[in-house]
Amino acid sequence: MSNIIKKEGYPYSFNTDACATCEGRCCTGESGYIYVSKNEIENIASLLEMEVNDFRVKYLFQKGYKFSIKEQKFNDSYECVFYDRESNGCKIYMARPSQCKTFPFWDYFKTRVDELKQECPGIIDD
Ligand code: SF4
Ligand code: SF4
Repeated sequence: MSNIIKKEGYPYSFNTDACATCEGRCCTGESGYIYVSKNEIENIASLLEMEVNDFRVKYLFQKGYKFSIKEQKFNDSYECVFYDRESNGCKIYMARPSQCKTFPFWDYFKTRVDELKQECPGIIDD
């Protein structure tokens, strides 16, 4: 079975097999924003069986009018608080935000394939 994903309009393909050994480079590394919508906040809070307000205080910070998931420092880099280093997975996988679900197919990377390749070892030139 092919594990290569190709999406119309993107000048690259993505081999999902790379995720098994890459140690979550899209969830770790340089500090960044992991935006969550109102719906996503409710879904994640529900998955964690938390009140939305408690969830916000514990796991989110505000950036302008948006909310982003907090990060924690690990050695010289940062990682999403929901990254599970032991299993190399996401602790809220079933409710992870759209930003995470759609990676590496972001509009931003359509014209920045070299930058994307530095982050994600699953990227294949078309
Ligand atoms: S950086 Fe790429 S290969 Fe690594 S976990 Fe993320 S999507 Fe998978
Ligand atoms: S929410 Fe999950 S998939 Fe998204 S950055 Fe955090 S650990 Fe990674």
